[in-house]
Order: sequence, then C-alpha cells, then structure tokens
Amino acid sequence: MLQSQLFTKTRKEVPSEEVSRNAKLLIKAGFVDKLQAGVYTYLPLGLRVLEKIANIIRDEMNRAGGQEILMPSLHPKENWEKTDRWNTMDDLYKIVDSSKKEFALGPTHEEIVVPLAKQFIASYRDLPMYVYQIQNKFRMELRSKSGVLRGREFLMKDFYSFHADEEDLDRHYEVMITAYKNIFKRVGLGDITHLTFASGGSFSKYSHEFQTVTGAGEDTIHICDSCSTAINEEIIAEQKECPECGGKKLKTEKAIEVGNTFKLKNKFSDPFGLAYKDSEGKDHPVIMGCYGIGLGRLMGAIVEVLADKAGIVWPASVAPFAAHVVEVKSAESANVAMAAQEIYGMLSREGFDTLYDDRNVNAGEKFADADLIGIPTRVVVSEKSIRAGGVEMKGRTELAGMIVQKEKLIDLLSKNTNQ
Ligand code: ATP
Ligand code: MG
Repeated sequence: MLQSQLFTKTRKEVPSEEVSRNAKLLIKAGFVDKLQAGVYTYLPLGLRVLEKIANIIRDEMNRAGGQEILMPSLHPKENWEKTDRWNTMDDLYKIVDSSKKEFALGPTHEEIVVPLAKQFIASYRDLPMYVYQIQNKFRMELRSKSGVLRGREFLMKDFYSFHADEEDLDRHYEVMITAYKNIFKRVGLGDITHLTFASGGSFSKYSHEFQTVTGAGEDTIHICDSCSTAINEEIIAEQKECPECGGKKLKTEKAIEVGNTFKLKNKFSDPFGLAYKDSEGKDHPVIMGCYGIGLGRLMGAIVEVLADKAGIVWPASVAPFAAHVVEVKSAESANVAMAAQEIYGMLSREGFDTLYDDRNVNAGEKFADADLIGIPTRVVVSEKSIRAGGVEMKGRTELAGMIVQKEKLIDLLSKNTNQ
C-alpha cells in the first residue's frame, strides 16, 4: 500500500477530552477515530489489526469445535424480559421505534443464542454443540475514559457451549482455557496475561478472567509467585493464598480483563426451556458455558503494554503491515525512488504486506510517523543505503538499523514475521 494513498494521515492533535494513552496513540497514528465517548471508527490501519486479532481468535475457536455464526444487535424486548434482565441490567441500551415497539441493543447474546439453540437441540445426540460470533456489543458504560479498552459499542467474540451435563461442561471449559492461553500468547501478551479467579455469581463458585497487567487497567489482581495464576481483588478481601497451588506469596498489580470464561449451567436454558431427551426419553436442562473476548480491548491492551515514547509497537502477529519501506529522497538523485519501488514490488510479490512511504515529506517526518505507526520492521532506501549496497533494515524497538543486501531482506523478514 502506498502511504501517499492511505485514507488517513498521522495527526498532531487528539480530542482534548481523550485521556487514555491507547486512544491517544491510536488516534494520532490513524488507527481509530473517535465519534463520541466510547464509540470509535476503525480506520484502514486499525481494521487490519482488528482482523488479524479476529483471525487468531477464529483459528483457536474453530479448533475448540466452534462454528461461527452472526447474530443481530436489535433484540426483541420479550427475550430480555424472559431472563428478567430487561429491568435488572443497568447498562442495557433500550430503544423505541416510531410504532412504540421496544428493543434492546445487544450487550451480550444469551437471550438470542438460547432460543436459537432450542430449534436445533432436542436429543442427547445433538450435544455437545458450540457456536460463536465476532460481533458488536452495546453497553451504557458509565465511565468511558479508557479509550478502546471500554467502549459503549465494541467488538466481542462470544462463544457459547451446550452440554448434556456438568462433567462435559467441565471438560470443555478446560479446552477453552487452553485456547484462550494460546490466543493471548499469539497476540504477544502471553507473559503478562494471567488466568484469574473471579466471582462466579450465584450459580458457580468461581468464574475465570484473563487479566493483562497494565497500569491502564481498572481491576486489581493478586498474582501467585509460584504458579502465576491470579485472584481478582473483588473476591479476595480475606483470601491470602493461591486457590490453584496454595502459594502464599502474591504480588498485587493493576490489570485489564481481556477475556473471561463462565459456567452458566442452566441459568439461561431454564427460562427458555432449552432441554434435551436422554437415551431413555427423559428430559434434562441443557448445561451451558459462555466465553468472551473483547477484540478492541485486546488491541488497546497491546498498545498500552508495548508502546514506547516514540509510538506504538505491534507484535508481528497483529501488525497492520509486516514491513514499512521508507524512501528517503535526495535532491541529487532519482535512483532512490526507483530503488524503493523495486524493494516494495519485491516484498509485495514475496507476500509481505508492505506500507511504502512514497510521500513528499522530509526524512525526519517519515521516521517519526513510522515509529508512531509501529510496524515491526522498517526498511529505509536512501542514497546512503544504495551506496552501501542495499537497504537499511531496523526493528521497531532497535536503536540502530543495519545495511542488508536486498537478497537477504526476504530471509530476515521471514524470520521476524514467524517469531
Ligand atoms: P468489565 O468488568 O471490564 O466491565 P465485563 O465483565 O463486563 O468486563 P464481559 O461481559 O465478561 O465483560 O465481556 C466479555 C469480554 O468483553 C471482556 O472480557 C472484555 O474483554 C470485553 N469487554 C467487556 N466490556 C467491554 C467494553 N465496554 N469495551 C470493550 N471491551 C469490553
Ligand atoms: Mg462490564
């Protein structure tokens, strides 16, 4: 992609009320635009990152047996009355149309997926079954000062599992925990994302959250020194040891919940009468689990955790482009532009998504923008690099680049991309 053709430009200013670091950087670099508090547009660069995150999540959810669907946002009021959440859920957006009919804008989808599953699940032979979606949620968040970490409209992956009994739910729950660990590792947050014991509500002792350690987080967690499992402050006023291994040394950190897993059991199957017949024809409630991940939140967490003074630092797995070719023109020669075009063409042919800074601006500005945007590898083509027999290649967090011959560039880039 030619940077001169990119829909967005980097910005010097961000809206004055925007206080979060993730949103400031994402807005400046042209990944998102803020429409109103808690509501963001994902621009070409931002959407590329979001899609990469979505594809990693899809891959792991498909492996865990999930089948992808897409449910609507506009929900009938009756479904929300059935579960008693029409009046009890504080953050539910309710809308009325001109015929006075009321709807909810979906904040989550148990009220839709359970009656949906009822049409296809009747017998023990239909179980277990797993569906998920990646879809926009709406929640009337009171505080929306955390940028894309806390949207009022935000993208979530929600996965729902249907089982014959609690043993089967327990089995699949472990499959999901493993899938979640894989996801957080693959997006570059593995080391600082902790499986965290949280409150299970009235129907389960615990639920689990995946908490990423960052000062931008709104939760406080206590991380076990020996097994790295954590406990959410909300349940441990009295708890002084790790529920996983009994470890007594716990470290307190601020963190953001990037995902969670919940044993719903029959909480939602009962109100909708979702039941199945066993091999003797006897009825039982279907046992459910639900599992969420916020995609925008995950993107924001990556920015919060990895960005440095100069800008965003994307892990290769979610970066909008693999390489950023920067052409540094000089008055003396037209060779540079030709050499840069050649490198851009070569990288594109070899399958590397490349952003090519072909703009007529000075080198300082180009380098500052490249740092701000945060593509993992910068490839500078200049008079100097040509004289030295190649291009100057530099990792986003490296202080200095090195000259490499263009034949070696592909090898080195492949290594970076597969890290
Ligand atoms: P929180 O305690 O942060 O409000 P939650 O418990 O309400 O989160 P869930 O209902 O479990 O969140 O939603 C599943 C996932 O969706 C969360 O783990 C998080 O990653 C994401 N998420 C929740 N609320 C938001 C939001 N307002 N903006 C962006 N992502 C969100
Ligand atoms: Mg919430």
